[in-house]
Amino acid sequence: DGDGREVADRLLTAAMRTIEQNEAELGRLDAVAADGDHGLGMTRGMRAAVAAARLVDGQSIADSLLAAGTAFADAAGGASGALYGVLFAETGAGLRGEITAHTLAGAVDGAVRAFVELGKARPGDKTMLDAIEPFRVALREHAGSGVAEAWRKAAQEAVVAAQATANLVPAKGRAARLAQRSRGHADPGATSFALIVTAIGEVLGR
Ligand code: ADP
Ligand code: MG
Ligand code: MG
Repeated sequence: DGDGREVADRLLTAAMRTIEQNEAELGRLDAVAADGDHGLGMTRGMRAAVAAARLVDGQSIADSLLAAGTAFADAAGGASGALYGVLFAETGAGLRGEITAHTLAGAVDGAVRAFVELGKARPGDKTMLDAIEPFRVALREHAGSGVAEAWRKAAQEAVVAAQATANLVPAKGRAARLAQRSRGHADPGATSFALIVTAIGEVLGR
């Protein structure tokens, strides 16, 4: 239906705003043990994702998220660019048909599988996955509470998990080379993921 594109625009715009507001902090976290470009890349990616989703031909959430994911990957660059691109696009691909908390949880399952296939991270490697996996599990666990409530509960898990990555030492990505420096600081990708799902939770069902 025609509503899907508007909903996608609202969610993606909320995600873009929180990334813009936290660009400096994400850059600072990425500079602790890597190249400091995570804030800049995420801002570029989210702006391109919002623009592409607005221009898309189709009218469903699926069409919008597929376009957003492709644009995100092209514009953001870097490891996280391709990985977030897959997350957006594959979540969209899983959302053809009726959207319930259960179909949403299934779409996120599929997106996380594709994400892991691409990035090959394991839990505890101190990557985005350490916020994404608890989010995925909680979304399924709370699916009985409906889309908005389940999403917000899962987002809270992602925030806690992202903060807990400060205790980990990176085994994947650029930061793995200066791994010990990263101790005591949260992973930038896990932090941006928690910000995005929190912002989406705040506008869902409102
Ligand atoms: P780059 O490292 O290319 O500069 P970014 O700075 O934008 O890219 O993103 C860094 C983030 O990407 C890390 O904090 C981590 O969360 C995530 N990341 C890097 N490599 C992987 C991977 N193989 N699997 C999952 N996440 C990864
Ligand atoms: Mg970087
Ligand atoms: Mg880089």
